[in-house]
Amino acid sequence: MTDISHSPTDAAPRRDFIRELVAEDVATGRFGRAPATRFPPEPNGFLHLGHAKSICLNFGIAREFGGTCNLRFDDTNPATEDVKYVEAIKRDVQWLGFTWDGEYYASDYFEQLYEIAESLVLKGLAYVDSQNEEEIRTNRGTVTSPGVPGPYRDRSVEENLDLLRRMKAGEFADGTHVLRAKIDLAHPNMIMRDPVLVRIRHAHHYRRGDAWCIYPLYDFAHGLSDAIEGITRSLCTLEFKDNRDIYDWLVQHAGFTSPPTQIEFARLELDYTVLSKRKLLRLVNEGYVRGWDDPRMPTIAGLRRRGVRPEAIRTFADTIGVARKDARIELATFEHTVRDDLNMEVPRVLCVLEPLKVTLTNWPEGHVEMLDASSYPHDVPKTGSRPMPMSRELFIDRNDFMEDPPKKFHRLSPGAEVRLRFGYIIKCEEVVKDDAGNVIELRCTYDAETKSGGSSDRKVKGTIHWVSAAHAHRCEVRLYDRLFSVPDPDDRPEGEDFTTVLNPDSLVTHADAVIEPSVLTDPIGSRYQFERTGYFISDVEDSTPQRLVFNRIISLRDGWAKELKKG
Ligand code: ATP
Ligand code: MG
Repeated sequence: MTDISHSPTDAAPRRDFIRELVAEDVATGRFGRAPATRFPPEPNGFLHLGHAKSICLNFGIAREFGGTCNLRFDDTNPATEDVKYVEAIKRDVQWLGFTWDGEYYASDYFEQLYEIAESLVLKGLAYVDSQNEEEIRTNRGTVTSPGVPGPYRDRSVEENLDLLRRMKAGEFADGTHVLRAKIDLAHPNMIMRDPVLVRIRHAHHYRRGDAWCIYPLYDFAHGLSDAIEGITRSLCTLEFKDNRDIYDWLVQHAGFTSPPTQIEFARLELDYTVLSKRKLLRLVNEGYVRGWDDPRMPTIAGLRRRGVRPEAIRTFADTIGVARKDARIELATFEHTVRDDLNMEVPRVLCVLEPLKVTLTNWPEGHVEMLDASSYPHDVPKTGSRPMPMSRELFIDRNDFMEDPPKKFHRLSPGAEVRLRFGYIIKCEEVVKDDAGNVIELRCTYDAETKSGGSSDRKVKGTIHWVSAAHAHRCEVRLYDRLFSVPDPDDRPEGEDFTTVLNPDSLVTHADAVIEPSVLTDPIGSRYQFERTGYFISDVEDSTPQRLVFNRIISLRDGWAKELKKG
């Protein structure tokens, strides 16, 4: 990985409870091998910020402790998986700055898993159950009552082996038989009540084609895949806590010496969004967003297109740390990290979202002056400047003019003065309106003695951004905001779901913005701070050299914090 950014939070990786355990593993030689982790996505959707947390943790540990981290596709479910997701996941992990040691597919272990299934049958530790799903559920009992053995639980080893082989050979229809572990139908952990290991599924697998018609369930595939790869610590989120017993049972009975062990940590839940592939898939399929990489999506692809840098995501993962208890993270925490990261990195330019024409009546016709515009403020390490043309006709933002302003409005109004950034002080002498009464032009004068950086000590309270009309480049600016209007979109009353609380203003488009010409020589995908407006990137999908489209990465300040105080 390239160096992590400047932020004070990533000076040294924090020691969390997982890293403490791994450090102990290393010190005691517990596993007899270097720490080995894996990131195990199912290729049934794009990765999101929650996955980024897991990626930073797994790859981070491998790097810090001189171990390895595999990328393993947990692709044991033929119905929903696709190679397009595999490609997207690989791209996203790499973009985040990580390189995997091994690239593996659980579907490549089907043969090995099948052999383990037979070995469990031979040891009397698994049986073929021919009850249907409903019967299996009922006979499993409840949290307060033990389960009851079904009629097939005591089949002989020979019969089980024969049935399992015929399941594999494709002799039976979906749902007619399953392979179950023979553990304990009264086990206090419901998962241990003879869990289903293998099911029949006549379906096409994106990788194995029609080679298999039996598929391992998550519990059967996951821990054993870890063990096959020699993983030491299998890191997963807290909802798998109850699966730890079957994990241990399987790796033990499959005969692995020094098998991996599972450690659970808190899922990332972030305010004003949803971090679940299933729900994100619905937003895509039902057309609430334009795709997996819509800049409003909390997917890695969406964040990348939005303009967030991978450094910011890594810093965020580090900032929130790893805990044993679930906790929602405020969106402001993420936004703060993104803003901080960009502040140090990106050049400043001037872009006017809602142009209002200004004519400087005392500026010589046809005269163009090249101003020297610094691209970075003094408190960031980068330096640089670009020429900024100024001429008789300019655009300022409509919001920087008020005909009848309140007291503390330090921008333009009839008779008032304001400084043009990098330029001169101008005074509004006349307001021109169309027949409908809309302001269409301001006629101003400029004070030639007041050039920025010059000797004049005349001061005005406000400085506004602007673009020379003759040099302006028309562009489209897309202002993105939070996708949902409530902090926890899943917390809905009966009968409502998260799609009822989408923020209707999550995208506001300014189709007639104007930007200074200096950006035209930059590659598409460059990031900027538009002074007084926010951080932006030229959109890599929709921009053309003739018409740039800019995505707002993040506002300059947290506008919602202000709203809340007011409200
Ligand atoms: P989703 O509910 O979004 O489909 P998942 O857990 O089913 O998530 P997987 O592809 O199985 O998705 O996840 C791969 C890895 O990423 C797992 O180890 C999982 O624990 C981890 N992961 C998924 N979501 C989060 C999250 N919100 N926070 C932290 N880790 C996560
Ligand atoms: Mg999953």
